[in-house]
Amino acid sequence: MTGDALAAGQRLWEEARECGACGSARWRAAGEVCGKRYARCADCGVVRLYDRVAADQLHRLYAGYYPGADSAPDELRRQLANPTFAHRRRRLEAAVPPSRRRIFEVGCGDGNFLAYLRGHGWQVHGSEYDAETAALVRRRHGIHLFVGDVADAVPPGVPWDVVAAYHVLEHVYRPAEWLAAVRRMLAPGGTLHLQVPNHGSLMRRLTGRAWASVMFPQHVYFYTPRTLAALLRRTGFAPLPGTTWDPWHGPGTVSGSLVNQARRMAGRGVPWADPLDAAGERADALASTDTAPSARPPRLARRVLDAVSAGVARAEALAGAGAVVDVLARAE
Ligand SMILES: [Zn+2]
Repeated sequence: MTGDALAAGQRLWEEARECGACGSARWRAAGEVCGKRYARCADCGVVRLYDRVAADQLHRLYAGYYPGADSAPDELRRQLANPTFAHRRRRLEAAVPPSRRRIFEVGCGDGNFLAYLRGHGWQVHGSEYDAETAALVRRRHGIHLFVGDVADAVPPGVPWDVVAAYHVLEHVYRPAEWLAAVRRMLAPGGTLHLQVPNHGSLMRRLTGRAWASVMFPQHVYFYTPRTLAALLRRTGFAPLPGTTWDPWHGPGTVSGSLVNQARRMAGRGVPWADPLDAAGERADALASTDTAPSARPPRLARRVLDAVSAGVARAEALAGAGAVVDVLARAE
């Protein structure tokens, strides 16, 4: 499933010597997970995974990243009711007039948000890196995706009025180049909408390596509202006022981080593990992915945890230190 064996001379890991956000080679140590180092750029302040899976070996990491199976109708209805969708749509519709509601979502995953927007009158397009995921979206929603990396090939149909990418940029190895490519996909005055984990969040500060959005080693770049706004300005965008609140990622990140922190305090370590063995094969029992959360506590404890997490998530977002950096920006 994970494909070819590691050839002689091929490396599984590489060093990110330069900051992909500003190009600087000056950095300070910012901790480590599983013996792999993180670095904080001394010039722009963006944090990156310094020892990362080599760019030409990423297929090993992302093999089977999304579920290939189709959902039952009830399950799909439940997924489409995710409160993050209504939240994103409110943000988009406050910034984009009805005459310009034509969106391209980069890395749209299961395509559920595009299907939701289409149900509210938007024209929807999108891309996925993985052909199997694109086939799933076609079967499930009848939406035909562009398969590939938008930084390497321009999808047909440019320019768009809106380009969005939710929880994608933290996976991107060359973020400044990627944003410049996305900028070229937008019509003049077009709108970009991004969500990434907030490295300045209260839970990140309190729980450190146990923070649920560490997501080692898939997440390679970590932003705050300030560092992401600076990167956007450097790549041809004018950021609009943002938020760190999200009704789904907020409580979810708080509860995930608290569970991780409890495990750590009980001496069971942090949940991250190197998902690749020395030969580059996926050790799936150990793999940490966005779709495989940590072991769940029993039901009563879960209810208490959910209630606490909802309150903490609201409070940290009110203080401007919520779970996500959610930003809209105009193409200049
Ligand atoms: Zn930098």
